[in-house]
Amino acid sequence: MNACTRLSTTSATSPFRRKETPVQPVVHKQTRNRVFKELPLSDLVRTLSVLSVAALPAPLLSAIIGFVRRYSSTIVSSRILSWPIRQTFYKAFCVGENKSEIAANIATLRTRGINGVVLSFAREAKLDGHETDSVSGSEDVALKSWVASNIETISQVSSSDYIAVKFTGAGAKAVQAMQNFKYTDSTMVDGLTALKEGMFELCEFAKQRGVKVMVDAESSLHQPAIDYLTLEAMAKYNTDGSALVFNTYQMYLKASLDNLKSHLQLASTKGYTMGVKLVRGAYIYVEPDRSNLIQDTKPDTDHAYDAAVDLLLRGTHTTPEQPWTAEVMLATHNTESVDTAMELFRSRPAGKQPVQNLVFAQLMGMADEISMKLASEIKAISAETKSNDVSVYKYSVWGSLEDCLLYMLRRAEENQDAAVRSRVTASLMLGEIGNRIAFWR
Ligand SMILES: Cc1cc2nc3c(=O)[nH]c(=O)nc-3n(C[C@H](O)[C@H](O)[C@H](O)COP(=O)(O)OP(=O)(O)OC[C@H]3O[C@@H](n4cnc5c(N)ncnc54)[C@H](O)[C@@H]3O)c2cc1C
Repeated sequence: MNACTRLSTTSATSPFRRKETPVQPVVHKQTRNRVFKELPLSDLVRTLSVLSVAALPAPLLSAIIGFVRRYSSTIVSSRILSWPIRQTFYKAFCVGENKSEIAANIATLRTRGINGVVLSFAREAKLDGHETDSVSGSEDVALKSWVASNIETISQVSSSDYIAVKFTGAGAKAVQAMQNFKYTDSTMVDGLTALKEGMFELCEFAKQRGVKVMVDAESSLHQPAIDYLTLEAMAKYNTDGSALVFNTYQMYLKASLDNLKSHLQLASTKGYTMGVKLVRGAYIYVEPDRSNLIQDTKPDTDHAYDAAVDLLLRGTHTTPEQPWTAEVMLATHNTESVDTAMELFRSRPAGKQPVQNLVFAQLMGMADEISMKLASEIKAISAETKSNDVSVYKYSVWGSLEDCLLYMLRRAEENQDAAVRSRVTASLMLGEIGNRIAFWR
């Protein structure tokens, strides 16, 4: 199947017309126009110092990442070594360690026009086959602690926020059951019963608090089980005309567009609202069967992302007999994706649409120029239209320095890929500092 057949939902009239070469980040005039004017100098300097590490030559950065990973516990226990990490990387990427710190940082984000957070507990699963989770008798201690930490995360946010759930954080037994899962084999479905019950328990708590549950997508080894569990939760909790539970679609996977379409059909047949988070995908380097699973080129992934946005925002692939409805979050740092989605959403014909609200999200510590530009656009749109149908969120993690360290290393590795974009952020921040110096003189 070639890219054109795969992406047939992008119609001839689509606003998405990408070049076939990898796209450099586009910095629009409005983005250049002091998007960071609301940020205090301390935040600008901190982010610049983090970005300058991300801009180191790749072999040197990989060596530093390897060193930190190896000696993480020594670093965390040393006050001298941990202090600079806490003041720079931790503060840039993580929202806090305890309830009051988290609440204060979320409040600061809101004052800058960010509508809310997608909060995630930072502790990541160690998927190296040497997990030592305790499974005492029939009780799965790791699973219980996963449910408890997600419930704690829910209690840290307010009703307009989301929490992000990572199923592989539920411990060795759960991960094994996920790896064994085959949709067609009912005994494998039975293997996921405990994890499903754990998911339902945390959804129940989220429902009482009005907090949405966003399930992260992971590697293709675990994704079929994640899809199964999330669809089960959606069928149970997304039945009142809104979405409590969201599934994530990684558009770098060749199968994702068809998957999304079939899940939309399933939702309409079963009568629930789909919760969709769209990403390009972050596991490209760990996918064993990359050539079969992943789009052949970066532009192919871009087209697939655009096609999914087009499908959702235009409401194509819905029929009067089987209409679907969805809540959508576009989780991306790609300026072109953000701008075209915003244009498409704003230019839709009036009347009832299958997607009523559009939510954008960026990771905390990354692509701040996109988040800040969106925040100011959204403010202007709300003032003009008196509606709040577009919003922007930051995906943030919380936890101790030790919990956050692995997460930060993964982000630092990802940042190597996003080096060009990091340079754009850095140059905009330097410009803002220059503006303030010129003003003081
Ligand atoms: C709020 C938020 C939540 C996220 N949640 C998840 C999640 O749950 N699961 C997850 O997997 N990721 C998640 N991500 C990460 C995301 O998948 C991307 O890795 C990251 O955002 C970079 O993609 P981009 O859309 O920002 O744009 P860009 O920087 O334009 O795109 C980079 C992406 O393009 C793709 N790509 C790069 N080179 C190639 C190539 N040669 N062939 C094919 N494709 C290529 C990769 O997906 C790469 O990450 C999340 C990101 C955000 C902002």
